[in-house]
Amino acid sequence: MISPMTSRTVRTMCPMNCHPTFCGMLVEVSEEGRVLGVKGDPENPDSRGFLCIRGRAAVEIPHNGRRLVQPLVRDGRRGEDRWRAVSWGEAIDRIVRAIEATNRERVGFWFGHGAHVTGINRPLIMRFGHLGGMQVWNPAIVCWAMGAYGLGITGVIESNTKEDMAAHSRFVLLWGANLASQPTTAPHLMEARRRGARVVLIDVRRTEAARHADETWLIRPGTDAALALAMAHVIVAEGFVDHDFVARHTIGSEAYTEHLKPFTPEWAEGETGLAAADIRRLAREYATSRPAMIVVGGASMYKHRHGWEPGRAIATLPALTGQLGIAGGGLGPRHRSFPTGDHLADLTAANRRPPGGWVPSHMSSIARLIKEGGLDVLLTAGTDMLSSFSDTAAVERDLERVGLIVAYDVFANDTIRRVADVVLPGTVWLEDIGIKETATHFYLMERALEPMGEARPLISVLRELAVRLAIEDFFPWPSVEAYMDALLAPQRNGTLTVAKLRELGGIAERSRLDHVPYREGRFATPSGKIEFDSERAVALGLPGLPSYTRPTRDGAALPLEFRQGRVLTAFHSFYDNGRALPALERAEPHAELWIHPDDAAPRGIAAGGRVELWNERGRFEAVAHVTADILPGVVWARDGWPGLNTLTSGEACLTPAASDGLDPRIPGGQSAYDARVEVRALSPSGASAR
Ligand code: SF4
Repeated sequence: MISPMTSRTVRTMCPMNCHPTFCGMLVEVSEEGRVLGVKGDPENPDSRGFLCIRGRAAVEIPHNGRRLVQPLVRDGRRGEDRWRAVSWGEAIDRIVRAIEATNRERVGFWFGHGAHVTGINRPLIMRFGHLGGMQVWNPAIVCWAMGAYGLGITGVIESNTKEDMAAHSRFVLLWGANLASQPTTAPHLMEARRRGARVVLIDVRRTEAARHADETWLIRPGTDAALALAMAHVIVAEGFVDHDFVARHTIGSEAYTEHLKPFTPEWAEGETGLAAADIRRLAREYATSRPAMIVVGGASMYKHRHGWEPGRAIATLPALTGQLGIAGGGLGPRHRSFPTGDHLADLTAANRRPPGGWVPSHMSSIARLIKEGGLDVLLTAGTDMLSSFSDTAAVERDLERVGLIVAYDVFANDTIRRVADVVLPGTVWLEDIGIKETATHFYLMERALEPMGEARPLISVLRELAVRLAIEDFFPWPSVEAYMDALLAPQRNGTLTVAKLRELGGIAERSRLDHVPYREGRFATPSGKIEFDSERAVALGLPGLPSYTRPTRDGAALPLEFRQGRVLTAFHSFYDNGRALPALERAEPHAELWIHPDDAAPRGIAAGGRVELWNERGRFEAVAHVTADILPGVVWARDGWPGLNTLTSGEACLTPAASDGLDPRIPGGQSAYDARVEVRALSPSGASAR
């Protein structure tokens, strides 16, 4: 409850990171410096007062008894979870000694979403690594980058906004896009529907988004590129191509037209499981409903061995039909996509890293570096590496070869409990200042609380380490606010500062914002055009034309295809996989495995029964959710559960050179995350799992 008189209200943002959704939050703070409540900010133009269960659960973070509040060093062997409290001085000394005792190339920095809940830490982590001459990796390789990599080869990176969708789209194709990861898009989708727009959902399960869709189609995992190529085939074969757009804004259309001939709907039926007639109907509807928008998924649909292929092929559809650069068309909002406009300054100093043996942001190369004993010090921040990497049992085993593992975080997680040697207590979002950047706006996050215990902001920890390690020019600004001003410098010709943002009530629209990208017909490719046929892809060792590779049958002897994704009650492994926040733990007390009745029955599995998934790499326990909302032969669980990625493959999707070669901001270094599994019942059918 919000209490009167003796409290103050602070405007900030939800500390989760579910871009393109970031929700405005009003926090009531008592005179004694305690959070009394949180609620949605009705004046936030993106979220308009909305907070989901994750955002509302944030009230349980600041004064949580499970918070890390003092530096700890392991007091025993790894895996024992025994700790000794130390001073910051002792902890920093130990880190500095370990770094100074080795070559900087043998020091690595891996961080996750939890390290940049205030939106301003990420550039400094990269800057610390670059100027310090260390290995530092972009965590986008566990998230959105693989999808963007595929879209980027074709040349469609920027997205139309949710507001544009609400105002103009007549047809919206949610393609692997689950609104649980972008809830503030839902009201705009509903506005579009009220105007008469039709919505079709394609996914590997009937997600929460299905309730907003007129039709939902379930397809076999990893076959999205086959569907896209078949739709392109229909668009070409049935004369729906916008020849004027194609002539002016694309290259390689003749080769693509020829290439598409064998990708008939009948062929795609065998790949996707969708009827050929339905594929034809979908292609026709998309091509003839102008403007039509495709909202592609943020991350989960690309988590397979050939994860760049869907984006590459899907991005050709709006190009063939001339639906780029028009209101209501193009590609809709997705994780880490932006419309046209000015961005924040790049302060990562990537071009100032000294020459060295840098391992790219390429998960299997990072895993190999660890396995081969190439790291003496691993600095981590805001991540549960043993949850987010693929093939985590192997990663955990190989981390034994790293001499010192340091973890900066708010709550302990499995990586901390099992492998970290030094733990640094981090501040929570209300104990820091920050800026969140949505597709359209910048929001100031004001500091509202004193840090709990000895928790320190990550920036101050990095500054101290930089001084001790003589990393020059790491933080040339006189204050954190001056650093934030430097980040904001490209906005409004340098006139948008923290002070100005404060004057504006903490909310400012992106400068030169256009809700409709590509109006000028210039695309982010070497030719400046949409590239149906890409010389750049060939140079990277990839097919020049959009391709589809049938899902690999790794572990083919096992019958079920495992996939993972997002729900509304969790955000990756944040806050010890949500277990530190009672509201989230109550909402999701155990892992659920979606399994079709046809797969459950012969295995003696019934709803609520405990099950085990297993394969040659690992095992994972869950509770069966027996449902026809997933296809036979496919099983699904939400991501982030400890142990889940012991099942998934660490096989590289791309070579390191291909991964790094497209765009330094979009590393394609994801590992496969594919898994073939078998499932067996652990408890009698229907027995309670609690
Ligand atoms: S959707 Fe939920 S978790 Fe995401 S920013 Fe909004 S309130 Fe936070």
